[in-house]
Amino acid sequence: MIEVAHVRKSFGTVSVLKDISLSVPKGGVLSLIGPSGSGKSTLLRCLNLLTIPDEGTIRIGTHAMRFGRDPQGKDHRMPRDKDLAAFRATVGMVFQNFNLFPHMSVIRNVMEGPVTVLGKGRDETRELALRLLDKVGLREKAEVSPDRLSGGQKQRVAIARALAMKPEVMLFDEATSALDPELVGEVLQVVRQLASEGMTMVLVTHEIAFARDVADTCVFMRDGFVVEEGPARQVIEDPREAATKAFLSHFH
Ligand code: ATP
Ligand code: MG
Repeated sequence: MIEVAHVRKSFGTVSVLKDISLSVPKGGVLSLIGPSGSGKSTLLRCLNLLTIPDEGTIRIGTHAMRFGRDPQGKDHRMPRDKDLAAFRATVGMVFQNFNLFPHMSVIRNVMEGPVTVLGKGRDETRELALRLLDKVGLREKAEVSPDRLSGGQKQRVAIARALAMKPEVMLFDEATSALDPELVGEVLQVVRQLASEGMTMVLVTHEIAFARDVADTCVFMRDGFVVEEGPARQVIEDPREAATKAFLSHFH
C-alpha cells in the first residue's frame, strides 16, 4: 500500500511538486502520465526517498515518514540513515537505463542487494536469484556479463534485481523508453505478470495502451499538480479535463 499526502518539493526557487496526494491499495497498479517536466520522476524518487520531500507524508506499507513542519510549526527532523535504508528496502525501482553493475555477472547483480544491504547468506540468495531469473526468463544467462545482453534482457535483470530485495512495492520510471520497439513487449510482459501476482506498483510510462490495460488507476500530472485521477480506462479513453485530452491526443 502506498499513501502520499500533501507532498511538496522545490529545487531552489522552482516548485516541482505542489501538494501531491494519491494512494495505491495493496495489490493495486497506478499509472502516472504527463508531459515532460511535469514532475513524474521527482514524485517516484520521493516515493523511495532518493529525493527527500520538503513537506508531506509518505507511507509504504507499515513505513511512514513525515517531512516539513508539524501543525505546531516544529520541523520534523531529517530521517536518520538507518530509517532511510529500511524505508528504501521496501521499495523496488526500475529506471529507464537499467543501471546494472557492468563488472558483475547477471546473477551477482541480482544477489548484490540481499547480500550487501540485507546481510543475507550467499547460498540462500543464490537460490532466490535463480528463481527470480527463471521468473523473468533469463535463468540460462545467470553467469554472463550484462554487456552480452539485449536491452530487454538487461531490463528484465533489473526487475529481478529489484525483486530480490522482496520489496512491498515496485516503481517503474519509463522502463521501456530506451528499448528498441521489438524489445518492449518482453519487459511489459514481466510487469503484467507482476500485476497479476498482486504486486503493488506505480508505472510511469508512455505506453498508453499498456497503462490502460494493466493499471487500475491513472493519474495525469502537469506542472507539479495532479490534474486528473480515475479508473485507468476512463482517464485514458474518456478524460474529463481539457489538459488530459490535449496530452492524450498526441498518442492517437
Ligand atoms: P520526463 O517526462 O521528461 O521524464 P518528468 O515528468 O519525469 O519529465 P521530472 O524529471 O520530475 O519530470 O522534472 C520536473 C521538473 O523538476 C523539471 O523542470 C526538472 O528540470 C526539475 N528537476 C528535477 N530534478 C531536479 C534537480 N535535481 N535539480 C533541479 N531541478 C530538477
Ligand atoms: Mg521522468
